Amino acid sequence: MKQIVIISGKGGTGKTVITGAFAALAKNKVMADCDVDAADLHLLLQPNIKERHKFRSGLSASINKKICQQCGKCIVACRFNAISDDFVIDHVSCEGCAFCSYICPVGAIKMEENLAGEWFISETRFGPMVHARLGIAEENSGKLVSLVRKQAKELAEKNNCDWVIIDGAPGIGCPVIASLSGIDCAIVVTEPTLSGLHDALRVIDVAKHFGIAVKLVINKYDLNTEMSEKIEKYCNKNGISLIGKIGFDKSVVEAMVEGKTIMEYKDTKIKEEVIKIWEML
Ligand code: SF4
Ligand code: SF4
Repeated sequence: MKQIVIISGKGGTGKTVITGAFAALAKNKVMADCDVDAADLHLLLQPNIKERHKFRSGLSASINKKICQQCGKCIVACRFNAISDDFVIDHVSCEGCAFCSYICPVGAIKMEENLAGEWFISETRFGPMVHARLGIAEENSGKLVSLVRKQAKELAEKNNCDWVIIDGAPGIGCPVIASLSGIDCAIVVTEPTLSGLHDALRVIDVAKHFGIAVKLVINKYDLNTEMSEKIEKYCNKNGISLIGKIGFDKSVVEAMVEGKTIMEYKDTKIKEEVIKIWEML
């Protein structure tokens, strides 16, 4: 079984469109959406949720008003201004540092595990999918990504699958590193802009640091052919494997609006381009 992840140095490069296309092309696989901060693969794959689980992570303070003496020490101590004048904790502002629970003279403050989101095992028209939803202003998305990855791998092993195809998180932070661990190949999707190239190179460095094979795809390459050529030259010079270029096509958006992958939409040139990339892979 091979695990591949589709990532991008920045958001909006078309990573999920390509992941959706791979979902349609690959046989015998499990899909995983690890972009838990802004999950959107479900918009294309329209999963039917079979299992729903709570994701608990981090701590949040809670005041027992029956014990509280209203001395106000915790309000002064909390540097995140998470405790209101009427001794109510704002769970969005609370950072879970537990300082208030140490300084409360009567032990009225307890630290409780946070309900930070949910994760799901679903069925889609392309096979099983593991995905998640992180709660508003919740942290530890790296931990949730690792959980989604683990569940997807276990499901793939149980079903004797050939592939785990993962929609990774954008950027170079903790969720991306969690998306990359133990991966067979990372496909970096970039667009032909200076910031696209800069951010793609940063994430390629991260992947290389962990010894992961990296392949690059330039999406919407024909919107700036000069920059696409620069990226191509850079790849040649630095031993980065460029496995494909996809042209701009309005039908990508039209397919998205209909909740379809580009492989299910009308025949276009980009369909052929994506098939070539899949075959290269
Ligand atoms: S420090 Fe304890 S007793 Fe004082 S206001 Fe806060 S919760 Fe109440
Ligand atoms: S746990 Fe820390 S951040 Fe949360 S209310 Fe207490 S002192 Fe403030």
